[in-house]
Amino acid sequence: MKIVCIGRNYAEHAAEMKAELPSAPVFFMKPDTALLRDNAFYLPSFTQDLHYECELVVKMDKMGKHIDPEYASNYYSHISLGIDFTARDLQNRCKEKGLPWEMAKAFDNSAVVSDRWLPVEEFPLEKAQFSFYQNDILKQQASGSEMLFSIDQILGYVSQLITLKTGDLIFTGTPAGVGPVAIGDALKGVLEGQEMFHITVK
Ligand code: MG
Repeated sequence: MKIVCIGRNYAEHAAEMKAELPSAPVFFMKPDTALLRDNAFYLPSFTQDLHYECELVVKMDKMGKHIDPEYASNYYSHISLGIDFTARDLQNRCKEKGLPWEMAKAFDNSAVVSDRWLPVEEFPLEKAQFSFYQNDILKQQASGSEMLFSIDQILGYVSQLITLKTGDLIFTGTPAGVGPVAIGDALKGVLEGQEMFHITVK
């Protein structure tokens, strides 16, 4: 299983990162070891600026290569919510030097995914409303409709290059409002009014 993450997929977040709007989806990957398994998240010692990025997540139902965006909706049936944890200080250093982002993005436990999944039949991703709270303070709130590239465009684009397999996860990008986390923080994600995850940073 692999995790494909889209960057700069919300205009306001690209602006807060002082990044240009992409003309094609920007993506990177996290390995399966990045998935947080038991909800026990420990602040890593190698970063002084760990950021949350709350994102809609899609799970592949079947293998896909050269997926036609027109038929991409046949490849997934459920959406969820997660956090793309990012070591922002390391990422900024990588960006300055034009280096890959893996050390800032792909480390152990950097991918939080709710164990709850909502059917797209009932909750289409394109309209999904989600919000993220840090210590009960609203930090991020968005709708899937604000994504620059739709999930169907993303699957079409990525699968031209990389075969997507059953169980692969797609993080679809974060809206504006990202920020640092500290030990003791309670991080909560809500999708369509339903609490999807609630973790405490240790
Ligand atoms: Mg992200």
